[in-house]
Amino acid sequence: MILDRFEYLRPSNVDEVVTAITTEDEVAIISGGTWVVQQMGQHLRRPKVVVDLSAAGLSGVSTNQDTISIGPSTTYTQLLEAGDTPPFLRKVASGITGGIQIRNAGTIGGSACFAYPPSDAPGALVTLNATMVLRSGDGQRKVAATDFFLDALTTALRPGEFLEEILVPIADTERIFSYQKFRNVTGSTPIVTAGCIASEDGLAKRVVIGGAATTPVVVDLAGDESEDEIADLTRSLISHPWSDALANANYRRHTAGTMATRAVRAVREQIEGEER
Ligand SMILES: Cc1cc2nc3c(=O)[nH]c(=O)nc-3n(C[C@H](O)[C@H](O)[C@H](O)COP(=O)(O)OP(=O)(O)OC[C@H]3O[C@@H](n4cnc5c(N)ncnc54)[C@H](O)[C@@H]3O)c2cc1C
Repeated sequence: MILDRFEYLRPSNVDEVVTAITTEDEVAIISGGTWVVQQMGQHLRRPKVVVDLSAAGLSGVSTNQDTISIGPSTTYTQLLEAGDTPPFLRKVASGITGGIQIRNAGTIGGSACFAYPPSDAPGALVTLNATMVLRSGDGQRKVAATDFFLDALTTALRPGEFLEEILVPIADTERIFSYQKFRNVTGSTPIVTAGCIASEDGLAKRVVIGGAATTPVVVDLAGDESEDEIADLTRSLISHPWSDALANANYRRHTAGTMATRAVRAVREQIEGEER
């Protein structure tokens, strides 16, 4: 139960969001609220001001010239329904657990800003080479997804700043891909995820691992490695392992190698299928 008093603001556009969060008081931005409300209920977070983004026009998916623009408040259900959603992200959204309530309320931007290591969003956005557009009273700045996730539960967002938009290069959304997720039971959050998108020259040269480390791990490949080599390389790159009640660090590290090979294998098989 939330017992603390707080001021509730529901800005109706981006400028009002800037004004609402530029305050000395502790602010909690709410997108879908599936993390924030839980934290407030457990008294882990006691904001003086709650800024609800639901009316700020920050949801939706649209295609511009060479990028796909995704509003941070786009829910998983909206990602599944929008025509412009990149197929890779549609696959990610379709695998979110927690039932219809979580898919209807939880948002891609909320998940990214929370930066919980086993969540799908951090690894997925790094796989897609996304750019995070951050906004504050000082204007806009753009941060590559690879630089956005700094540590577990820590992003490049500064005080008084919010995530305004997520940009994905179209070229990366049109190629063969694989998204692999390992969970210990159907309804659990992921233990390890692996995303791979074929490179421009039609090889599997990059796998991104989520859940094994505090931030997504990028595994760059030459394209001709054996599966054992991919697994070994992946495990060797996990320098800041993540561990929690679901799975310890060793288990996640080992699983990361296996999931990386699965993702690369799936991409290679699709490429070979196209060549036949
Ligand atoms: C039962 C259950 C099952 C789940 N299953 C999965 C799963 O399979 N995979 C998975 O990845 N996740 C899963 N989740 C987590 C869920 O995806 C996230 O809770 C959701 O996506 C977070 O989005 P939200 O909009 O609700 O975040 P919120 O709670 O609104 O916000 C999360 C954090 O981000 C901040 N924030 C939000 N928007 C912005 C913004 N625009 N700018 C700056 N800061 C912002 C908030 O202040 C807060 O700190 C599950 C959760 C539950 C309860």
